Amino acid sequence: MAFQSIHKLMQEYNTEDKCREWFVHHRWPNGVECPFCSNKDGQKTICRLTKGAEKGCFLCRACKKKFSVRNNSFMGKSRIPYSKWLMAIYFVINHKRGISSLQLARNIGVTQSTAWFMAQRIFNIVNSDNAVLNGIVEMDEVYIGGAEKNKRPDRRVNNSNKYLNDKMSVLGMLERGGKVILRQYEGKQYKYMEPVIEHHIGKDATVYTDESPLYKGGINGRQHNCVNHSKGIYGIGSITTNRIEGMFSQLKRMILGIHVFVTRGHFKRYADMFSFRMDTRELTEYERLDLLMTQVNGTRIKFDEISCHGNPGTKKWFPHYGSKRKIVL
Ligand SMILES: [Zn+2]
Repeated sequence: MAFQSIHKLMQEYNTEDKCREWFVHHRWPNGVECPFCSNKDGQKTICRLTKGAEKGCFLCRACKKKFSVRNNSFMGKSRIPYSKWLMAIYFVINHKRGISSLQLARNIGVTQSTAWFMAQRIFNIVNSDNAVLNGIVEMDEVYIGGAEKNKRPDRRVNNSNKYLNDKMSVLGMLERGGKVILRQYEGKQYKYMEPVIEHHIGKDATVYTDESPLYKGGINGRQHNCVNHSKGIYGIGSITTNRIEGMFSQLKRMILGIHVFVTRGHFKRYADMFSFRMDTRELTEYERLDLLMTQVNGTRIKFDEISCHGNPGTKKWFPHYGSKRKIVL
């Protein structure tokens, strides 16, 4: 059943069994599918266990394995009750600018570290690693972080060039009428943007940017138009970057207002969830939940995969673009 507010959700899904059935119904709307052998025969070969600790789980007669709705999803191997997961995904995807792990922890009754990892698992459902933008794409870069002069002296980057400070560089790409993708890149030069552009913008796309000297050499052969903000020109017909600038404004409010500080190594997941909220801003809250649940297959992440403890600055912090930059915390 669809619900339109947290009040309705609490009234309707007031037991663990009902919450589990909500997940079963929304993950497999066309019948239960075995996560091990992809057997979709439903009731013929998949039977429901009804007794003891395995109540609500399934047995696949094809591969003789037992599974629950948690298997091979963002809830894989989690012992958190379904009711807490349901509330957590409701809060994480429906709060316009996100929710902090401390607030989530207080709202659903878990510790902060559990809430943080739950949120990361939910962020990972909507990762846009394989997304390619086409048509008209607005592109711009933004630098996130505080000014050097406000930092503690021992944390300042010793550099006389104010443009080579330690801010995080983020490239924003927005397809008109489609998705928005935000990706971090190292340095402040075009050569570091190239792998991101090649990965996420189609060859036939038309790219709109501002007059930044970064784009003087073109966008890797793609059609390119720009507007000159320094001359006070913000739009020539439909050529404008106002939409992506608006997204940056929302992104900065999310980071400053809710999360306060986002580590470089974790930025991608926060950015992907931000993009998901922006892409689905015209949907209602339960439509957004339904959409999320259609994407959960194979989205489990382990804490060791995303934790930087013990191995800060390793390659896996930039897993997609082969960066060799060492980051020291
Ligand atoms: Zn099976």
